Amino acid sequence: MNITIIGGGLAGASIGYHLVKLGNSVTIYDRNDKGQATFASAGIVCPWISQRRNKKWYRLVTKSAHYYPEFISTLEKEAGMSTGYKNSGAICLFKENIFDKATKRISDKAIDNPDVGEVRQLTKDELSALHPSLTTEYPALIVEGGGQVRGRKLLAALKEAFIKYGGIWENKSYDGGNDDTLKIYTTGAWGAEQAYKPEIAHQRAEIMHFKLKHQKDLQSPVVMALGPTYIVHLENDEYVIGTTHIDTDSFDTAPTEESYNYLQDELYKYFKPEEVEITEMGVGLKPYTRDFLPFIGYVANNTFVVNGMGSTGLTASPFVGHEVARLLNNLPTELDFEDYSYIEPQN
Ligand SMILES: Cc1cc2nc3c(=O)[nH]c(=O)nc-3n(C[C@H](O)[C@H](O)[C@H](O)COP(=O)(O)OP(=O)(O)OC[C@H]3O[C@@H](n4cnc5c(N)ncnc54)[C@H](O)[C@@H]3O)c2cc1C
Repeated sequence: MNITIIGGGLAGASIGYHLVKLGNSVTIYDRNDKGQATFASAGIVCPWISQRRNKKWYRLVTKSAHYYPEFISTLEKEAGMSTGYKNSGAICLFKENIFDKATKRISDKAIDNPDVGEVRQLTKDELSALHPSLTTEYPALIVEGGGQVRGRKLLAALKEAFIKYGGIWENKSYDGGNDDTLKIYTTGAWGAEQAYKPEIAHQRAEIMHFKLKHQKDLQSPVVMALGPTYIVHLENDEYVIGTTHIDTDSFDTAPTEESYNYLQDELYKYFKPEEVEITEMGVGLKPYTRDFLPFIGYVANNTFVVNGMGSTGLTASPFVGHEVARLLNNLPTELDFEDYSYIEPQN
């Protein structure tokens, strides 16, 4: 099959990679827009902590997390590159009054899913050994199965392997074609430029990069702090804290003073100001569709769309790529695509 993919973020690259491995001829067009979600992303792969009750989403992200270790080990060998994937666990902080209830909620998920790993409350000394610079009075537990990946490194490795398998990568906009080859649109937030339904909306997410002055080369676990705040170790002494979520129609990617101040306040809740050095702000545009579930399906003859990967697109994209490639090659899939291919919101 000859296939054209429009959009080379993690969604498009993952689909392209799996398609070429199945013997398809694939060209990916990517414009590398400022604000690409994959480039800005934090990289947490730990879907079991969320309190979200949507079963279709949960099936997707847990199957995706299960696929990660095998996928990464194959890809890193094929590409000869590191993706920054680490399975160092996830520390979760809670308010005292809900700590035991939260521990039970997450532990219950581990009962029939070995991917979650051990879920264990940490003593203050254990927490301090895992993350010495973190200052918090909140009680903590660790989810051993939690992991992380570096979005931009993963994308570079996928691109490398895709090209090694014979894929063609064009660093430019797709300006249409009259042929009747299959087109797959994975244009992220810029899906708003296409006329198809469901409509693609986006949130602007800002993330603060910082260095820890006395914490180098420690494989600290991801920290899921209070509310929407998280802290992720990237490499050496580099960390990020995120994130802001603002619904917007704008494609402006200049960092704002308001987000800087908000994230700086969050940062100083968890680290002493004299321990950190803020280095830069990142801005990414996270794509959403009708009900915060990805859309994966045909919107017209020969036009397939994968978009709306939202806040868990790094987690889900590799497995979605695997499954979409199988679907398009008439191979059995684990995902039931009817769960993701409807246009109107479902209850
Ligand atoms: C700050 C931040 C933190 C995040 N943290 C996490 C996390 O911890 N864990 C997690 O699982 N997920 C996370 N995410 C979500 C994840 O990054 C996204 O869901 C995912 O990267 C979306 O991938 P995508 O390929 O759909 O879109 P994108 O990565 O945005 O890629 C779309 C690409 O399409 C290209 N394009 C658009 N139109 C055209 C065209 N006409 N022609 C050619 N190219 C075109 C664009 O230039 C762009 O390169 C985070 C996102 C952000 C912004």
